[in-house]
Formats: sequence, C-alpha cells, structure tokens
Amino acid sequence: MRASFTDLRKEILKIIEESAQPIMAKDVLNQLEPKPNLSTIYRALDFLCRKGFVKSVSFSTDANYYFGAKKAHSHFLYCKGCSEIQVFDQCFAEKIQKNIEHEFDYKITDHFFYFSGICDGCRHRMVDL
Ligand SMILES: [Zn+2]
Ligand SMILES: [Zn+2]
Repeated sequence: MRASFTDLRKEILKIIEESAQPIMAKDVLNQLEPKPNLSTIYRALDFLCRKGFVKSVSFSTDANYYFGAKKAHSHFLYCKGCSEIQVFDQCFAEKIQKNIEHEFDYKITDHFFYFSGICDGCRHRMVDL
C-alpha cells in the first residue's frame, strides 16, 4: 500500500489532517503548490477515502468536505447561512454507542455527526437586514 502513496496523496492527506475543520477539494487545491488540476485532487481524495485515511461529509450543498479519519470521533457545527464549519469536542454519543453495541451485537469503532443551524455572525447579519 505504501508504494501507491504518491507524494501528492501524502501532501493532500497532510493538508486535511492539519486543517482545523473539514475542507473542500478546492481548499486543498488552494494550499498546493504547484497546483495540479482539480480532477487529480478528486482522484487522490477518492483514493484516500477508499483506503480509510480520510472521510467525507456533505452538508446541505453538493460539496463534499474532507476530514482526517484518524480520530475515533468528530463533531461539527454547520452554518446554513455562510457554510462555515466549526468543530466541537463535547460528545454525548458514548452512552448511546454502548446501548447500540449491545442491542445490535456490534463493535462501533468511530462516529461523526453534525448539527446544522445559523451561526452568531449570520444571525446578526439577519437582524441588520
Ligand atoms: Zn454563518
Ligand atoms: Zn463523539
């Protein structure tokens, strides 16, 4: 598997893992120098997803956001106004997870979820309108 890890894939994985929030393919592109074309990036992202290094999530738009799969859990807040994503650490899933493992005779290895809503900045902008 190592052999199939091109420098570009390595670099993309590093960008995603170092990003504080999930990012889109075009955000990855912005950080690469020299710039490959976007379809090359999509192919690399596809590869990283298939191999389990990266996960993707799409919110209310078509765009996929990518984040590192190393963490056992990730939680996001997605603003429907400005599409900004924030990460939060509080996890309430542990207890639910235990119940589900028991009920379905399952070993859960990871989870991610998001809440969507309107961020502080967008709420203020709405008031200003
Ligand atoms: Zn917002
Ligand atoms: Zn969690």
